Amino acid sequence: MNREETITYINNHGILPESKFGQNFLCDEDIIEAIVDLVEAGPDDKVLEIGPGIGALTREFVNNGIDITAVEIDKRLAQYLSEEGFNIIVSDYTKLKVEDYEPTKFTTAVSNIPYYVMTPIMIKMMSDLTNCRKMTFMVEEAAIDRIDAKVSTKQYGPLAVISKVYGDFCKEFVVGSGSFVPAPHTTSAVITLTRRNGDTFVVDKAFADFVTKCFANRRKKLTNGVPEAKLALEELCIDSNVRAEALTPEQFKSIYAIINS
Ligand code: SAM
Repeated sequence: MNREETITYINNHGILPESKFGQNFLCDEDIIEAIVDLVEAGPDDKVLEIGPGIGALTREFVNNGIDITAVEIDKRLAQYLSEEGFNIIVSDYTKLKVEDYEPTKFTTAVSNIPYYVMTPIMIKMMSDLTNCRKMTFMVEEAAIDRIDAKVSTKQYGPLAVISKVYGDFCKEFVVGSGSFVPAPHTTSAVITLTRRNGDTFVVDKAFADFVTKCFANRRKKLTNGVPEAKLALEELCIDSNVRAEALTPEQFKSIYAIINS
């Protein structure tokens, strides 16, 4: 849908975009098409979308014959999309149980992420969707500092570690606020995370919980909060006083593997 069609849809349905849900609807057809291309979904894929809104992306996938399921927190918007025949789960995605959406069946995923809840949504997607080969996200451009953060920086935390272990990060393109109705206050960017060919380590909930626990007291040494890491640090010849923020994503993987061996 272009800007005019988006405004008409919103007016016809009496929708007042809710800022508490981060509702800024994409209305730029070139950007919509570019995002759908990045998702690289074919007829055999099953796509998961978080936060379909009024269906800007969802509609484009369906028009291309792609099997897509979307999770939407806003009951009204979900109802409109369901009435149009889209496959919608009404839920706060951060609270959605795995038994209620079979995450392992999805092969690729997309979200124009509600910015207020970016980190929990990204971490849940990366850890639940264990058979997904790629994730395509629209995020606030400034938040990229936290997703692609370097080790030992202030921004480096669970999101950066889990993203880097998940796959290769790419900032694809920037999207100005004029591409949305209503316009957000910040610039956005589309990013992708792509699993590496042959990578046998798969991010899952246990690994994501482990990394999150390691950063719970980032100012303290790792072994204070995670005593079970002591032997693994010794085995890997890493200083036993190390803090989580000084460990590389590879080291997190190794420590986790040793603890669970
Ligand atoms: N995908 C649409 C687009 O590109 O125009 C809408 C994107 S809008 C930025 C974010 C959407 O996520 C809204 O529809 C909002 O209601 C929904 N949302 C917000 N928090 C959510 C949550 N916790 N779980 C699922 N959906 C959520």
